[in-house]
Amino acid sequence: MRVRHKPWARGKLEHYTDIVIRSPKYYNGEWGEAFHREARLCVEIGTGKGQFIVGMAEKDPDANFIGIELHESIIVSALQKCLDANLKNVRLINADARGLTEYFAEDEVDDIYLNFCDPWPKNRHEKRRLTYSAFLAQYEYVLKSHGAIHFKTDNQGLFEYSLESFSQYGFLLRNISLDLHHANDRENIMTEYEEKFSKKGQRIYRCEAVCND
Ligand code: SAM
Repeated sequence: MRVRHKPWARGKLEHYTDIVIRSPKYYNGEWGEAFHREARLCVEIGTGKGQFIVGMAEKDPDANFIGIELHESIIVSALQKCLDANLKNVRLINADARGLTEYFAEDEVDDIYLNFCDPWPKNRHEKRRLTYSAFLAQYEYVLKSHGAIHFKTDNQGLFEYSLESFSQYGFLLRNISLDLHHANDRENIMTEYEEKFSKKGQRIYRCEAVCND
């Protein structure tokens, strides 16, 4: 994603400390405290501008949602969407998902969402893909038993790589779709990228990977 620098973004993120969590490690194992209630915990990695997490949080007010996004100039748009929607069940973390196991305890997370993550097509960049085995190890650690990774992409190469990576790691695969928008899934909440790609007529691939223990 091209990132347009917004010099005011940091100030805004620092202002809304109730939504943008400055020290996620502090809540490791106790995320209920950050929401003032215990509930299902759903984490989106690479939240981008927040359309998906806000849509999910509105659809499922009984769950707690956390969006992790690397760039402050992007996550600030997700913050604005949360404010506009007056949502109480979303928290945002402006950080690298590589630190996942520092932010969440073992067996703390119910669902992980990976939407349209960067494909990193060159072999030498494999380790940067969010479905590379080192990331899967972190997901497995924080996910509850039978917790799921929900994965969507427009990129066929990344999809095929990810199916193999999930499967080799030992996750069970379910709900695979090679053309999600023609599968008539009324439950589907679209992300910004998903809308953009599907308008261009591109296929959307989807699968879920479940911890096998
Ligand atoms: N999920 C959004 C969507 O579908 O519209 C955004 C997709 S965009 C291609 C990928 C996003 O993931 C970018 O905003 C990028 O900054 C973020 N990202 C990439 N690697 C990340 C990482 N290691 N930790 C956190 N965010 C990351």
